[in-house]
Amino acid sequence: MRDVAEFSPYFGDRKFRDHPLGFKIIVPNEDIKITPLFCPICDEAMRDPADPESFDKWEACSRCAELFAYPKRDAWLTGWRPSIEELNKYRSEREKIPYIVKW
Ligand SMILES: [Zn+2]
Repeated sequence: MRDVAEFSPYFGDRKFRDHPLGFKIIVPNEDIKITPLFCPICDEAMRDPADPESFDKWEACSRCAELFAYPKRDAWLTGWRPSIEELNKYRSEREKIPYIVKW
């Protein structure tokens, strides 16, 4: 019996597998990069155009990358993350900055 999680080739550079409920799951062959809606470090919305690229590289929004990851690059790459106190200080300073929403 075939493993239910195993994908088979599908046309158009995609792959598919059958779902136990009777439908097919079709996905691209390549991995899809997904940027979360909120930064896992500061919990702010990922709203800057630079945030997806920053998340791919640093797993943080561009603001957290500039503030925390760049200055402590080596520590960041080995798993260091800012303390709760540092994040609370950052959040209280961010609350003073107005949001600008363009429609
Ligand atoms: Zn962030």
